[in-house]
Amino acid sequence: MNPQNSNANQEGSNKSPNAKNRDSETGLNQPSSTLLLNAIPQQIWTADTSGEINYVNDTVCRDFGQSRETVLAYGWTAFVHKDDLATSINSWKASLESGKEYTNEFRLLFSDGNYYWHLAIARLVRQEGKSDIWVGTNTNIHLQKTSEARKDEFISIASHELKTPLTTSKGFHQLLLRMVGEGKIKTYLERSAGQLTRLEKLIADLLDVSKINAGKMIFDSKTFNFSNMLTDVVAEMRQIYPSHQLLLVAENNISFTGDQFRLEQVVHNFISNAVKYSPDAKTVEISARIIDENIIVSVKDYGIGIKAKHLKQLFERYYRADNSSTRFNGLGLGLYISADIIKRHGGSFWIESSFGNGATFSFKLPLISSGSADPDIRTKSYYRDKHLSITCPVGSDIMYVEWTGYQDMNTVKRGGSLMIEYLKENRRSKVFNDNRLVPGTWSEASDWAANIWLPLMELAGLKFFAWILSESAFSQLSAQKSVENEEKHSEIVFFTQAEEGLKWLEEKSTFQPDVDI
Ligand code: ADP
Repeated sequence: MNPQNSNANQEGSNKSPNAKNRDSETGLNQPSSTLLLNAIPQQIWTADTSGEINYVNDTVCRDFGQSRETVLAYGWTAFVHKDDLATSINSWKASLESGKEYTNEFRLLFSDGNYYWHLAIARLVRQEGKSDIWVGTNTNIHLQKTSEARKDEFISIASHELKTPLTTSKGFHQLLLRMVGEGKIKTYLERSAGQLTRLEKLIADLLDVSKINAGKMIFDSKTFNFSNMLTDVVAEMRQIYPSHQLLLVAENNISFTGDQFRLEQVVHNFISNAVKYSPDAKTVEISARIIDENIIVSVKDYGIGIKAKHLKQLFERYYRADNSSTRFNGLGLGLYISADIIKRHGGSFWIESSFGNGATFSFKLPLISSGSADPDIRTKSYYRDKHLSITCPVGSDIMYVEWTGYQDMNTVKRGGSLMIEYLKENRRSKVFNDNRLVPGTWSEASDWAANIWLPLMELAGLKFFAWILSESAFSQLSAQKSVENEEKHSEIVFFTQAEEGLKWLEEKSTFQPDVDI
């Protein structure tokens, strides 16, 4: 809800001059805004721009069992569960700083002595001639939260319970297979063993998801030969999938420190998907290269492909593209688990695909920490390291930024912070942001970019931003997500042709920002 559009704030706008409290169309009496605010079952509050709460509705007082004066005197933090306090304060502070919508989930202490989960959403309402205010609501989401937790707990218990009889029955199967000679019975036993393995994989995926959700996925990190691991996994998968030719091209003797078992699981998942979603093709190509101190693993198939609109959701839990849910078996968990494993190794992942023409799933694992690139050159108006260069030429009002190679959360955050620094220092308002040399990326840095980086760039003087897109669909999605900001105060335009972006910037009138932050 946008508080600026709420009934409470529009009160009076439809009033007929003759019937002050009557709706001009229905003739019914209009309730006063105070009555409305207190009748709403949600907690409603306002705060000043320093974050101090200065109004709460009756629902807050009823829930907390305190008078309005006491609630305002204690402040909201007095009612927040101690385990949710630090993240809540940080998120509130971040919104106060950026002016971006505040959303947060926390437990609030009610007068019955119990904590209840709430979803807080607040927006900054700008008021002409008066100081801005934050208008917020806290909605009770306890039921949804607890039933979600119960569902996760059920999945965890059920998958544990299913695992034990399955393991026993697999053991008997193997025994029987050893006892029978060649013939029909052996063929049937082998087929049912294959189904048991499938069942085992489904149960393992469910268990993993419940571990991820409970934050209990444990990683056992050791140094191992990554190239050998790939060779072994591919060899094993050739046995499982004789229908496809699995071609592997990998650099030798890549050494990596991480959880071998979990990374095998990722490769397994990418290859089995490549086979599953390419029933009419014969080949799957797997490659592993080292680029800029990163291992890049790609699995390419010639199958059904994925529509662009599905790309960014595929790594979410239970998500399955519409074309696969009816034709192919699956729970939609493999990529979600893979994404978690890759992220926990400091890596990132992306997909290149056009619908009907196959897909390439890639992931990147950093061999050294990616956030710590040393600059090759750093002057007041020029910066360069292996991930990006920033140039503010004398006599131009444009800041030129060129991103190079694979990016992730760390490199994007560091590069973005440098852009703010150089924009301010060189007093520029136009940015030429060139992503043409970025081959593929997807990272949560986009949320950071939308909520923190972009508002700070604007504070630093940004007015016109020409974003030259990479060819990578995933990188384009990251770019678009980074500017999903309703309250933009700058013009941001995407270009596929660099010349067009430059022309657009040059046509914009020069603006010397008055920066004093
Ligand atoms: P599942 O395969 O069990 O559905 P995943 O999490 O492994 O679960 O994959 C999620 C979804 O991503 C799939 O349902 C499918 O829509 C899509 N997908 C994954 N890999 C491919 C691929 N190689 N080609 C086309 N679609 C794919």
